[in-house]
Amino acid sequence: MFRPALRSLPRSLPRLAPSSSSSLPTPIARPLLTRTMAHKVALPDDFNKDLYVPLAQLDPEVQELVDRETWRQFSGLELIASENLTSLAALEANGSIFTNKYSEGLPGARYYGGNEYVDELEILCQKRALEAFSADPTKWGVNVQPYSGSTANFAAFTALINPQDRLMGLGLPDGGHLTHGYYTAKKKISASSIYFQSFPYQVKKDTGYIDYDLLAANAKLFKPRAIVCGASAYPRDWDYKRLRQIADGEGAYLLCDMAHISGLVAAGAQNNPFEYCDVVTTTTHKTLRGPRAGLIFFRKDKEADMESRINNAVFPACQGGPHNHTIAAIAVTLKLANTPEFKAYARAVIENAQTMAKFLHDKGYKLQTDGTENHLILWDLRPLGLTGSKVEKLCDMAGITINKNAVAGDVSAQTPGGVRLGLACLTSRSMHKDDILRVASFLDRAVQLALDAQKAAGSKKLVDFVAAVSSSPGVTQLAKEVREFARAFPLPGVPDSSKIKAFADEH
Ligand SMILES: *Cc1c(COP(=O)(O)O)cnc(C)c1O
Repeated sequence: MFRPALRSLPRSLPRLAPSSSSSLPTPIARPLLTRTMAHKVALPDDFNKDLYVPLAQLDPEVQELVDRETWRQFSGLELIASENLTSLAALEANGSIFTNKYSEGLPGARYYGGNEYVDELEILCQKRALEAFSADPTKWGVNVQPYSGSTANFAAFTALINPQDRLMGLGLPDGGHLTHGYYTAKKKISASSIYFQSFPYQVKKDTGYIDYDLLAANAKLFKPRAIVCGASAYPRDWDYKRLRQIADGEGAYLLCDMAHISGLVAAGAQNNPFEYCDVVTTTTHKTLRGPRAGLIFFRKDKEADMESRINNAVFPACQGGPHNHTIAAIAVTLKLANTPEFKAYARAVIENAQTMAKFLHDKGYKLQTDGTENHLILWDLRPLGLTGSKVEKLCDMAGITINKNAVAGDVSAQTPGGVRLGLACLTSRSMHKDDILRVASFLDRAVQLALDAQKAAGSKKLVDFVAAVSSSPGVTQLAKEVREFARAFPLPGVPDSSKIKAFADEH
């Protein structure tokens, strides 16, 4: 087995150490928790003494903000579809001493010494990543170093295609992500449209479903080098088989960015992008419920150099030193993702989303695609004469956090006609069917109050609307009920909610 000698590596880039997994060192088998006698050293009394002072004592200002944020999360109903509430163990790992370590390179091939435990950690994280998604390690490799979903995507493009090559992704107003090539008439917004030529595909204006036929036709003309699937606001599952056919027709790579749904994919509760895609990227903090970071999975059996292309694209092309504390927290998250409890959580997320969708649909509201088969709902407010901004604003004042979102057929990107609701956070707070129905009834009330406020405002301007909402006793009452309700549920990461510092309610 070839093992690069650490000292022979250049201290300055760019010559890269081999990254094939066959050259990875085997982790040392060592019993957990063996240690020598604790070695007590007196704390310093010099310029370093602050390094030992706990946050609350050292920096009450920041501690106060942490406390307020904890209270906000405990007291509110979090329906942002891209968010989740991570575990205590992931929080601990993320706050661990691994943050101190530089480890540019890959396990067994680093630019710095002292990486024996970082190597073990990264190998463990890689192994768990492949296991969590049942990816065959003879076909798939994974890079666990991306700082976030956006950087994972840019690194993946860097690995797959050349500057100015063509790519197609779902348009941002159609539910796609910025990093899938977003541009406007006036401006190339995302680096993915600055450095590559991009052309969007769409959802059908009437049904809200992806228009695969139009994608196929446009791909024939545009001839993309890569097709990106995956979305930030799409309530339905993906037809990966069809996408593969379209990509194959043009000789394009197929990349899936499963950021929003990766927890559901890990649980086997969605179609499996690993069956058809060349590369799969994800964030780790959405339905996967981990720390803020990204992952890139790649097929290593189709093109011999794919593994090194991906690894080199992450580092040194797009990033520097890995965030080892985050990788520790990802490893913890992936261990959890491989449990029966996680599968039950993922199923509950979808059930809760469907429960809420049915409630709203039965009330006569319009939902894009009339429902959902994942964790999120797109609520089309246009038939009510309301904008997403207004409902978002009112809900915020009532302690319900949602975001305005474009819905199929929106003409103006500035005033989106809907809101996006995600059920992952509430499910992580152990809210079940009856609780979700209660939350859905809060949302129903919020929208009715928004209609009242719009009438009272006497204009369609957001400022007048906010003024009307601020003086609405109905909103004050709703906020009170929301908070009482929310505070009856545990907050992940905080085992003893009685230790959460309380603050006066603001509305
Ligand atoms: C959230 C998201 C990203 C970006 O993730 P960040 O961690 O915010 O950089 C990328 N792609 C999709 C589809 C997303 O939903």
